[in-house]
Amino acid sequence: MKTDCSACSSLCCVALHFDRGTDFALDKPAGVACPNLDPQKFSCAIHDDLAKAGFTGCIKFDCLGAGQHTVQGVFGGTDWRTHPELLPEMMEVFRLLRRLHQSLEILKYLELMPLGDEQLHLVNMLKAGFTEPEDGWTLSTLTALETDGAFDLYYTALPAFQSLFDDPKALAALRAAT
Ligand code: SF4
Repeated sequence: MKTDCSACSSLCCVALHFDRGTDFALDKPAGVACPNLDPQKFSCAIHDDLAKAGFTGCIKFDCLGAGQHTVQGVFGGTDWRTHPELLPEMMEVFRLLRRLHQSLEILKYLELMPLGDEQLHLVNMLKAGFTEPEDGWTLSTLTALETDGAFDLYYTALPAFQSLFDDPKALAALRAAT
């Protein structure tokens, strides 16, 4: 779940939409490459000047590894410039993997806290619902996570952990473990 842009094909720079404002200097629809993306390489031409150029939104964004997981794990290293016909599917896989990685990230932090028996059972149940199939994620299996309610179940269960986030000892345990 650690971002590795070198193993991605700048999916965030093409898949996401921007609204011109404090975080982005222009409007960009989803599925259209950002004009600042190098046309020859998968790298940002203004990477060192993002804040100055009005793109703090790019600095704040973290795909949590969903980009390289999409490109390498699901599409075997294929990129959207060589195969533009795959871009819509890549965008959807990227969106779903990002949801999955966000959920797993929270569960990972919860596991570092002093969980009660019921909370531990709940974490294990939620993790089981997010288990990667033996032959890896596909658009179909990721879509099923959403349509079958795995993400809904996760959001419904989160309040059961609120007491941990209000408990200084639990927060100290999390800080010590990270
Ligand atoms: S400004 Fe750079 S990092 Fe931000 S979307 Fe455009 S190319 Fe990507």
